[in-house]
Amino acid sequence: MIIVKSKHEVEKMQKACTITANALHYGGKSIKVGMSTYELDKLIHDYIVKNGAKPSFLGHGGFPGSACISINDQVIHGIPSKKKIIHDGDIVSIDVGAYIDGFHGDSAFTFPVGNVPEETMQLLKVTEESLYKGIEQAVVGNRIGDIGHAVEEHCVSYGYGIVRQFVGHGVGKELHESPEIPNYGKAGHGSRLIAGMTIAIEPMINAVGDEIKILPDGWTVLTKSGSPSAHFEHTVAVTPDGPLIMTKPTVL
Ligand code: MG
Ligand code: MG
Repeated sequence: MIIVKSKHEVEKMQKACTITANALHYGGKSIKVGMSTYELDKLIHDYIVKNGAKPSFLGHGGFPGSACISINDQVIHGIPSKKKIIHDGDIVSIDVGAYIDGFHGDSAFTFPVGNVPEETMQLLKVTEESLYKGIEQAVVGNRIGDIGHAVEEHCVSYGYGIVRQFVGHGVGKELHESPEIPNYGKAGHGSRLIAGMTIAIEPMINAVGDEIKILPDGWTVLTKSGSPSAHFEHTVAVTPDGPLIMTKPTVL
C-alpha cells in the first residue's frame, strides 16, 4: 500500500532528511586515505546521534553498521569493517538513513578519493546526473515508470549496466515502504505519482554489465564483472509544486 503523507507530515519528515544529508556529507568530507570503513561509520553514527536522531540502518534486518559503505566494485550494503581500508583512487559509496520525530530519511553519494581514473569519474558524473533526471520525473500525474525510464535512458546511452535486483522505494515512517522505484522502466507505465508520496530514488549503476553477486557475509553486493559501481540517492517528496529534494545538506 502506498502511504501518502500530509503536507504537515512531509514538513515533519524534513528534519530526518536534513540530518541524513548532513551526516552523509560529513562522512564524505571525513574520508582519508588509510582510514577503515569502521572508523568512517563511527563518525557518521556519532554525527547522527549527536543531532538527536537514530541511525536507521543500525540493526535494520540485522545490519551491523550505521551506514552502508561500499568501495569500488561493491555496489551497495558494504559492512563497515576495521579490515576494509580506504586507498587513494577508490570510490566510496556511503548510504545513510536517520530516524527522528517518527520519520526516516535515506540518501547516498559516491565519493571519489584522490586520483580516480577519468573513466570512473565519468561513471560517478553520469550516475548522479541520472538521479536528477529521475527526480525531474517525480511530478504529480506521472507514473513510476517515467522515473526509471529517465534513469535508464541516460545510463544506457553511456553503455553502463543498471542493477535490477535492487531498487528505490517509498520512505517515511518505515525505511522501506511501497512502492518500489526501479531504475529502469517504460515511460507511462506503473502506478501514478500523487502529491504526498515520499520516495527514495537511487540509481545503482555499474561501469560494465548489470549482473551482481552477493558476498558470503550475506550483505555486500558486488558487480559480477569486477567493474566499479556508483550509487546516488535522494529522498524526494512529490508535491503539487513539483519534486522536493528533501535530503539536501544544509551545513556543509
Ligand atoms: Mg539508502
Ligand atoms: Mg534507499
